[in-house]
Amino acid sequence: MRFKDKVVVISGAGAGIGKGIANEFAKEGARIVIAEVNVESGNAVINELQDQGMQALFVQTDVSNNESVEKTAAKVADTWGTIDIVVNNAGIALWKGIKDLSSEEWDQVMGVDLKGVFLMSKHCVPHMANSTVKSIVNISSVHAMATVPNYDAYAAAKGGVVSLTRSMALTLKDDGIRVNGICPGFIDTEMLQRYVESLDNPEEYMKYVLSIHTVNRIGTPADIAKTCMFLSSEDAYFINGQVITVDGGLTIQLKH
Ligand code: NAD
Repeated sequence: MRFKDKVVVISGAGAGIGKGIANEFAKEGARIVIAEVNVESGNAVINELQDQGMQALFVQTDVSNNESVEKTAAKVADTWGTIDIVVNNAGIALWKGIKDLSSEEWDQVMGVDLKGVFLMSKHCVPHMANSTVKSIVNISSVHAMATVPNYDAYAAAKGGVVSLTRSMALTLKDDGIRVNGICPGFIDTEMLQRYVESLDNPEEYMKYVLSIHTVNRIGTPADIAKTCMFLSSEDAYFINGQVITVDGGLTIQLKH
């Protein structure tokens, strides 16, 4: 049990990758905080974890809202006295380019995907002082490095998460907090399913998606969770300010 009784705060853990991260940390004995905006899904994950005898707390949280995040961090500290690990996972996608994207939509994507990382980290850091782990993991995306048309706000926010990961690692070095990131590729979650279902030819698209991976499958939330646990484990104590791409070989290939 690598994370016995460690307090792990995971944003957006009501679904997809965040839920996978919650499940994997819970299996290793961690106390799980689901910081999720959706009450129904947040409670559902908590019930599943508690039914298996895991220690878990749901705090409704909008990561883009300063007061909401501040209250969440305080609630965790009141309940469990410390925060050991923060996983900044909450994110939203919007398939629009600058010609169609409104100013409000830009702010909305930036608010959750980039400002959310800032706010969660800012308010959790003061409660990490007594931890022996002190790890922050930010979930970016392969879109931080190479992207497609009409995904402008998302790509910009995820690029910002990579830069923020490096700068936070420097800012927090004297606090003993390591900050690393993960760039997932195609991961089988509700976010991906929503996109695929919006297409005219979902089956053909998924065949194409499989063909551009080197490992004959797309990713699972557990693939990201395992990387997240590695980065927060003792094995990664010498790793800081790094961003690992977890994409089944997607981004190593050029079209020819
Ligand atoms: P998802 O849509 O399946 O789940 C996201 C969760 O975040 C949901 O439970 C949602 O309610 C929650 N959330 C949304 N806004 C929030 C807010 N303001 N405050 C708190 N919670 C909020 O998405 P996913 O696929 O699991 O993605 C998780 C993260 O991984 C995101 O940051 C996403 O950008 C990133 N990512 C996903 C993929 C993929 O292929 N699925 C690839 C690369 C990166």
